[in-house]
Amino acid sequence: MTFSIHGLPVARGIAIGRAVLVASSRVDVAHYFISADQVKAEIDRVRAGRDAVMDELHRLQANIAHMSAKEAPQELTALLDVHLMLLEDEELIGGVKHWITDRLYNAEWALTTQLEVVARQFDEMEDEYLRERKADLEQITEKVLRALKGVASPIMQPMSRPQRNSSQQDLLLDDTVDVPLILVAHDLSPADMLQFKQSVFAGFITDVGGRTSHTAIVARSLDIPAVVGARLSSHLVRQDDWVIIDGDAGVVVVDPSPIILAEYGFKQRQHELDRGRLSRLLHTPSVTLDGQKIDLLANIEMPEDTVGAVKVGAVGVGLFRSEFLFMGRQGKLPNEEEQYQAYRRAIEGMHGLPVTIRTVDVGADKPLDNSAKEDAHLNPALGLRAIRWCLADPAMFRTQLRAILRAAAHGKINLLIPMLVHGNEIRHTLALLERARVELDKRGVAYGQVKIGAMIEIPAAALTIKLFLKYFDFLSIGTNDLIQYTLAIDRADESVAHLYDPTHPAVLRLVADTIAECQAQGKPVSVCGEMAGDVTMTRLLLGMGLRSFSMHPAQILAVKQEILRSDTEKLTPWAAQVLADEDPAARMLQP
Ligand code: PEP
Ligand code: MG
Repeated sequence: MTFSIHGLPVARGIAIGRAVLVASSRVDVAHYFISADQVKAEIDRVRAGRDAVMDELHRLQANIAHMSAKEAPQELTALLDVHLMLLEDEELIGGVKHWITDRLYNAEWALTTQLEVVARQFDEMEDEYLRERKADLEQITEKVLRALKGVASPIMQPMSRPQRNSSQQDLLLDDTVDVPLILVAHDLSPADMLQFKQSVFAGFITDVGGRTSHTAIVARSLDIPAVVGARLSSHLVRQDDWVIIDGDAGVVVVDPSPIILAEYGFKQRQHELDRGRLSRLLHTPSVTLDGQKIDLLANIEMPEDTVGAVKVGAVGVGLFRSEFLFMGRQGKLPNEEEQYQAYRRAIEGMHGLPVTIRTVDVGADKPLDNSAKEDAHLNPALGLRAIRWCLADPAMFRTQLRAILRAAAHGKINLLIPMLVHGNEIRHTLALLERARVELDKRGVAYGQVKIGAMIEIPAAALTIKLFLKYFDFLSIGTNDLIQYTLAIDRADESVAHLYDPTHPAVLRLVADTIAECQAQGKPVSVCGEMAGDVTMTRLLLGMGLRSFSMHPAQILAVKQEILRSDTEKLTPWAAQVLADEDPAARMLQP
């Protein structure tokens, strides 16, 4: 039966495919396709993994048999029996074989997919005892996954779909292997999303998350349709269901009828055509009708993202979120050399264009790794985040500063500091930068000059902008946080997402005043929050005087299209009217 789930649109476009449910805790399980001739070897791997776990359990059983009745806990004996029974269960192994044979999933992926299927059956059981066996099932899956690590994969990990030859193709039902896959999860952390950068998935759906949560931001950078905040989707959608993601409307259609499928198929082709049209703007200079040159820069998470930035004609990187180098490493932070190499790769990737590296901004909805979530402060967005975290660990911070300074010997680097709010923090940060230089001098290591900028993303910073301009070479407005902190709306919380309003008069006032003050003092300013890549905001930002926009590469051509149609001489008085209106969003709809 067809039904739809409404969430928040994150990344545009339509994706149609089969659902792959992934428990949040299992996202780091490898997901890749094997080729048809590797099926047998992969099934053997699962069997070997399962047999290893069974051997271990049998050994335990044997040990218990030698114990006295007093020593041998009865619960343990019963538990071992249940685990062995589950491991022998044909439904689990038969299902795993199905995913490997018919879908060409690798062993780990097949195992966790079947776990989701069987776990749901347990959830639906009336009998409480049987329902609770789900935990046992999860435990044995975990054990087999661990055992599989010891059973070498016969293959490397290709992430793309295997190519079938035509005779194989003829044997296939039309929807087996070549169907796009849509990932459905309760939640995904930004670090989880990174795993999917070159993934097999054509779209994402999560139950939680706001439009500017970092998970959403990374999804957008993947440039595939995504919907977040689609509550209960991971409960309502079943493994292998057909789903449509409408990334423009934020809607998920489950089990669509043929008519709906045809309609969305049409929309999907339309979207492709629009993209094709936009790509014609690639070599058109980004200049308004009245001759204002506008810089379009890229936001990146990894050095390799520079490839995409160059492809769409970005004139530099306006925001390199360096914290992504620090995530998902079980707390082991990258050392100076590792960071230096990464920043250098980013510089080289941009072929001489400037790269703005933001110092590490972890905390809030960007934990270093998933286990850190458990210790999260009650209000992490107001806690030890970004520069606060860095100043609390000066040795770690200076390591990053030295790596950036060293990379600056190879190209143009701007150093950007997030979340500053207080004069003391500014002075402390600059002192640490100076110390990092001295340390490099002492070691006799070469380094380069950097321009130093601050992010304006806390209202208090925007209100004391003159202080910031006294110390910094340039400013970058982080509207994602500026909106969150001005309106007291958690950007990652879908339950208040309707109140997260980029056009609130207070937000617009802070953005406009920051731009105006920078202009008055002749200091460069850009916007690097999601507002910069939102085509509905382009004209207003131009009217406020903004001439530098930093966004995900996927947005650059769409924003350029808006710029080419804009006349800043006309937009300036119009923007002043919008700013003075009590309902700017409504006023923006008027020419
Ligand atoms: C912002 O806050 O607007 C920003 C660009 O930084 P981040 O989204 O990484 O917090
Ligand atoms: Mg921010």
